[in-house]
Amino acid sequence: MVDLEEREKGKEFSKKVIMDFKSSRPPKPRGGKLSKDEMDRIVAQARKAREDRLKGYREQSLRIHPWVCARCGRDFTHKNLRMLTVHHKDHNHDNNPPDGSNWENLCIYCHDNEHRRYLDHMEGESDKIIDEQTDPLTHNPFAGLADMLRDRNK
Ligand SMILES: [Zn+2]
Ligand SMILES: [Zn+2]
Repeated sequence: MVDLEEREKGKEFSKKVIMDFKSSRPPKPRGGKLSKDEMDRIVAQARKAREDRLKGYREQSLRIHPWVCARCGRDFTHKNLRMLTVHHKDHNHDNNPPDGSNWENLCIYCHDNEHRRYLDHMEGESDKIIDEQTDPLTHNPFAGLADMLRDRNK
């Protein structure tokens, strides 16, 4: 009698396991391909990450280098930090090594000066200054500089 009871229990048990197995079926396979929307989203994310990285160079440079103008030695606090800008030593804004070796913290006056000297040597490079103006973090410290220079050279 005990044997039969045990066998019934065993049957119940295996029925339950089968039920569990059926209800925990894995989700439908997705075909292994990304939809166009998903691809677009991933590409947009990657692009934004790159843009953020480029924009972040000022913050990075201010974290690495002291808040002192590398030319005139004026030092800065949170109050006037807007006047401290980040210059690219090789004038290439795409060259942003994370160790900060291409960045220099310059006050807006020395930065202005630096670009003026550079322009004396390199004609037609003013578009790089315009690039820098579009950096929202530096908030147009050189607005109108290119125009000023052009007028002055007339
Ligand atoms: Zn300075
Ligand atoms: Zn610069």
